Amino acid sequence: MELISGKEIQELTFREIREEVQSLKDKGIEACLAVIIVGNDPASRVYVNNKKKACETVGIKSLEYALPEETTTEELLDLIEKLNSDEAVNGILCQLPVPKHINKLAVIESISPEKDVDCFHPVNVGKLSLGRAQLVPCTPAGVIRMLDVAGVEIEGKRAVVIGRSDIVGKPMGIMLMERNATVTVCHSKTKDLSSITKQADILVATVGKQKLVTADMVKEGAVVIDVGINRNGEGKLCGDVDFENVAPHCSKITPVPGGVGPMTITMLMKNTVTATKIQNNIK
Ligand code: NAD
Repeated sequence: MELISGKEIQELTFREIREEVQSLKDKGIEACLAVIIVGNDPASRVYVNNKKKACETVGIKSLEYALPEETTTEELLDLIEKLNSDEAVNGILCQLPVPKHINKLAVIESISPEKDVDCFHPVNVGKLSLGRAQLVPCTPAGVIRMLDVAGVEIEGKRAVVIGRSDIVGKPMGIMLMERNATVTVCHSKTKDLSSITKQADILVATVGKQKLVTADMVKEGAVVIDVGINRNGEGKLCGDVDFENVAPHCSKITPVPGGVGPMTITMLMKNTVTATKIQNNIK
């Protein structure tokens, strides 16, 4: 069994991104990401700080807009409109969740698809499903990057995704299909889950329930990717996979923490560079 380390693949990818950012700078272009946070959610604050730190690491300029909890949808849309038309800003993201009184869909749809580095805009989701994506959803793109760096062949393989969320499960299925895997997406209404997961050469779990994937659900030699982030009874971070008992049966597996987690932010940096290139007509 081999561990696929998100930390190592992040370092490798950051090095590549740093070079791309530098070559843009050599052309007089400074890649810039604008991050909006509304309210005082502590988890969101941590995510935003981490995004800022990642920008510093790869040399991307970051702008933060911290808005008070009582910000209205209109005020938020006004700010996004300003950032959309600011040529010095290449990527825009609004940290979710936004406070309940804000129209989340209106916010997602107001970000210019060209600057939508989270890839949540319906135009980008549509392009993804048509195989024409330029910006890609960060977490599933991070999983694909991990499989590639770890030398896992995807084409012709049987892939099973557990979870069908709009930000991970669904696009994960599409991206694996795009790479010529035969894909099954399972969810909370799936009957006899283990009969399906047992067929997987590549198994991706994105549910949010600790120990959902047990050893008897995994084929001998499978590659297991654990997207889940949960806290166990002792308050320690853990994934959706019963790591201790599943790992011995896998050819490769991602740990939690230190697996998929670091890759999401990595692909956000990558999308920001891609957006900057598109906006400056650079191949
Ligand atoms: P979500 O909470 O939006 O959806 C969960 C999905 O799991 C649903 O599609 C549901 O149908 C399915 N599900 C629920 N119970 C099930 C069961 N018993 N059997 C099969 N399917 C079941 O999911 P999400 O936003 O994809 O998040 C899932 C997990 O991944 C969470 O723990 C989240 O914190 C984590 N996550 C991690 C990253 C990262 O960067 N590593 C990014 C996003 C989400």
